[in-house]
Amino acid sequence: LEPAYSFMIRTRTPGGVVTPAQWLQLDAVATRYAERGLRITTRQAFQFHGVIKTELKATMRAINAALVDTLAACGDVNRNVAVAANPLQSSLHAAVHAQAAALSERLLPNTQAYYEIWLDGERAAGSGEEAEPIYGETYLPRKFKIGFAIPPYNDVDVFAQDLGFIAVVEDDELRGYNVSVGGGMGATHGDPETYPRLGDVIGFVAPDQVTAVAEAVVTAQRDYGNRTVRKRARLKYTIDDRGLEWFKSEVERRAGFSLPPARPFGFTHNGDRFGWVESEDGRAHLTLRIPAGRIVDGALDGRGKPVRHLSGLREIARLLHAQGSGAEFRMTPNQNLTLAGIAPALRAQVDSLAAEYGLDGYRTATPLRQRALACVALPTCGLAMAEAERYLPDFVAEVETLLARHGIADAPIHLRISGCPNGCSRPYLGEIALVGKAPGRYNLMLGADHRGQRLNSLYRENADEAQILAALDPLLARYAAQREQEEGFGDFLLRQGIVQPRTPIPSTLIE
Ligand code: SF4
Repeated sequence: LEPAYSFMIRTRTPGGVVTPAQWLQLDAVATRYAERGLRITTRQAFQFHGVIKTELKATMRAINAALVDTLAACGDVNRNVAVAANPLQSSLHAAVHAQAAALSERLLPNTQAYYEIWLDGERAAGSGEEAEPIYGETYLPRKFKIGFAIPPYNDVDVFAQDLGFIAVVEDDELRGYNVSVGGGMGATHGDPETYPRLGDVIGFVAPDQVTAVAEAVVTAQRDYGNRTVRKRARLKYTIDDRGLEWFKSEVERRAGFSLPPARPFGFTHNGDRFGWVESEDGRAHLTLRIPAGRIVDGALDGRGKPVRHLSGLREIARLLHAQGSGAEFRMTPNQNLTLAGIAPALRAQVDSLAAEYGLDGYRTATPLRQRALACVALPTCGLAMAEAERYLPDFVAEVETLLARHGIADAPIHLRISGCPNGCSRPYLGEIALVGKAPGRYNLMLGADHRGQRLNSLYRENADEAQILAALDPLLARYAAQREQEEGFGDFLLRQGIVQPRTPIPSTLIE
């Protein structure tokens, strides 16, 4: 008798965009095959948790029936391509999203094994010896992540990506992208050879050069990445070991053209903007807060009231599906959900459904709670050293109590929790971050900015909750008393010399 093995399945959904019809199908997959509903990841993918082994194939087939695949969503390949959710400029989002989706397709492995194994493709569908011009015989040394940002929002945390594209828009036209290379969050406790790193901006490309540059970066990493020490196999270490100038030259040689200097850009924040906005085409867009990305019925909201997010979004999907074309469900890189492209006539009905099913928590959540992120961690992730998603509501409540005590309940502080130093919730870009070390114990990291342009620093090591709150209390008191207008908590800690600056993006590039 075999143990009841269960698995996690992750989708490849470039930019996190699905139609209402696809949402309904994926909801049905989650309801039929998965535990704990749908989960939105920080790479704008869905995760289905707890799929039992005997139903894996049926689940994969059902996901593919929704015209969504899971190909290359894991493994040493390019992962799901992230795109700014940006609901305000719909034509710009459409252009950038199309570019990202095309790049995602281009960087798929050619192997037919996926179709043969999961979709009963005949062996004849692939000889088993498909050419892999991008990945070669050995694929990449390690996973690879790409993100497209659309200033002024850095919701994709573009500098945390191996390869980032920052849209340059002039006179309302997409002129191209600044290119960032070598970002990455993962590290290993106690190993100074591993560290989080922000990407370096190496130049500018026109839209029709994006694919060539991406292929050049990916294949340079394929050929020069560290295949001996897996913990040093990400692109950031290749660049640090060989030098940024060498890497840029290698990319230009492979691409066949030089990169002109990057153009100035400016980010205002790396969070989401909640509630309704209207775009230039008259459509309405609603961004909802989804705590830790978990869409499930029965979870408790911030005030301990049960909510039915899965059922509510099903009803909204039915309504938007009936609307016809234009509406999208857009997962954000901060684990939230934008209902985009809604006909203005449906706005009141969507609002009413959101209220009925407890999806309107964004209206009353504190800024801290709205912005808080957590990875899955326990009990699902085998690498977790401490709680993250399940601990998030309690820890946020504790920090909210401190903020209220100091009269700054409205402080828009970015808080992130990861269950281990791999950093799936991009914790090293949190103004306050907990990185799991052991059950109930975390490294307290402080001092990132709220634009995704500066890493935080270790402030307390291996601390329990009481020690973390005791460390935060006096800092928040000082922040309340001495902060400058609009000054973020991380910026304040830096100005006061409480934390030291770490690898900020060069100010010469920032508008
Ligand atoms: Fe990622 Fe670590 Fe969290 Fe697992 S515990 S989801 S590997 S950060």
